[in-house]
Amino acid sequence: MRPQHTKAVKEDFTCAHCGAQVKGNGRTNHCPVCLWSRHMDEVPGDRASTCQGMMKPVGVWVQHGEITRVEHECEKCKFRRYGPVMPEDDRELLIKISVADIRK
Ligand SMILES: [Zn+2]
Ligand SMILES: [Zn+2]
Repeated sequence: MRPQHTKAVKEDFTCAHCGAQVKGNGRTNHCPVCLWSRHMDEVPGDRASTCQGMMKPVGVWVQHGEITRVEHECEKCKFRRYGPVMPEDDRELLIKISVADIRK
């Protein structure tokens, strides 16, 4: 048995928001279907947060016309962070978020 460490692990999870089965790839921490995440980490990958709140996608980061990052806000503690957009993420939903985000 090896001690658990903070390295990014490929873990599959079931989305607590929409119920989709998500295949972990070691980098994503959000659901590609609804883009919701969960407040599990203090530092990405460490799983040290005790909050466990659901994190809503509230904004996106656009670079050179491409959406490269999605911003999540925790519904419980209002903690915000950016996560990388994955190729499998729902593009239409990302665009919707970017439109809703415009008055920020
Ligand atoms: Zn989902
Ligand atoms: Zn939280």
